Amino acid sequence: MALFGKMENLDAPKDDNKEIKDVEKVKVLIIGSGPAGYTAAIYAARANLSPVMYEGLQPGGQLTTTTEVENFPGYPSGITGPEMMEDLKGQATRFGTDVRFGLATAADLSQRPFKVTIDSNKVIETEALIIATGATAKYLGLPDESKYAGSGVSACATCDGFFYRGKDVAVVGGGDTACEEALYLAGLAKKVYLIVRRDVLRASKVMQERVRKAENIEVLWKHQTKGLFGDGVVEGATLAKNLGTPEEEEVRIAIDGFFLAIGHKPNSDIFNGFLDTDNVGYIKTVPGSSKTNISGVFACGDVQDPIYRQAVTAAGSGCMAAIDTERFLAEQE
Ligand code: NDP
Repeated sequence: MALFGKMENLDAPKDDNKEIKDVEKVKVLIIGSGPAGYTAAIYAARANLSPVMYEGLQPGGQLTTTTEVENFPGYPSGITGPEMMEDLKGQATRFGTDVRFGLATAADLSQRPFKVTIDSNKVIETEALIIATGATAKYLGLPDESKYAGSGVSACATCDGFFYRGKDVAVVGGGDTACEEALYLAGLAKKVYLIVRRDVLRASKVMQERVRKAENIEVLWKHQTKGLFGDGVVEGATLAKNLGTPEEEEVRIAIDGFFLAIGHKPNSDIFNGFLDTDNVGYIKTVPGSSKTNISGVFACGDVQDPIYRQAVTAAGSGCMAAIDTERFLAEQE
């Protein structure tokens, strides 16, 4: 499951750290361990800022759920997402980043030092904060998605595709992620349905072409999912073709796996009330910088990027966040 730095729906109150005795002071805290977090860590560590990083629920971030990364400069033959993240982690620790397992569960950014609660039982007080918490896969919001969670519903083909070898599956979405997931699954499953709500794919031309050429992928244009059925596990999906038009018709497909690939939600909920965001929750940064509306708090990677959302742009913004942090701390001294 794509759970990178997942922070939404947490009930912990923002001031839950009042009860917590375990308090540690650090100079720079980085939360999130995707390309943005690791790059920020490499730069901050090399600047002698002794950064502490908490990895979040999915160490390595979303790229650990990706198969081949072919568009990161410097890898002419491509590299797998998990390998790239291991390399980035190795580079960050080589220069002294203190990488820890743990999830940021609450934050108090009302004054410096900023307070970030980890796993609801430890508080880190930090002079500067770099937020690199990324984004989490979205679901359609159907009750059946929770009903069959772990029993045929997934938002990560590379995590769960193995279970569907030789079976029939469906992927929802028309972007690069959906195409990538469908192609990955096509290598394992007998048949892959790609459920697309419009009559075009949003994905890049190269991905569209690959999907078109895959013999066992069938694109279901103008289809939307109404529900899933099955006795304990997913056995099929009920779809609506041409929903809301006079030609609307119900279509049932027999599938064992139902994969969501319809985009992501930024993991910024624990900063609600402190940081300015757009209406989706992407943290707003001052254009051309990683600065948020709070001096000393910086954001990088997908949590602040509704437009590009690429590993290389995330890494670039992580570099910016570390340099902005270094300058901020120097100004304070
Ligand atoms: P996108 O936002 O690009 O695409 C989301 C897709 O899901 C769209 O086709 C959208 O339909 C569809 N969708 C959204 N909501 C629903 C819904 N409720 N019901 C049915 N369909 C829905 O997200 P991605 O995760 O695909 O990509 C995010 C970014 O990451 C993009 O910039 C992409 O290029 C990049 N990326 C790059 C990769 C690579 O280069 N290897 C791999 C993966 C991602 P509609 O088109 O109608 O809005």
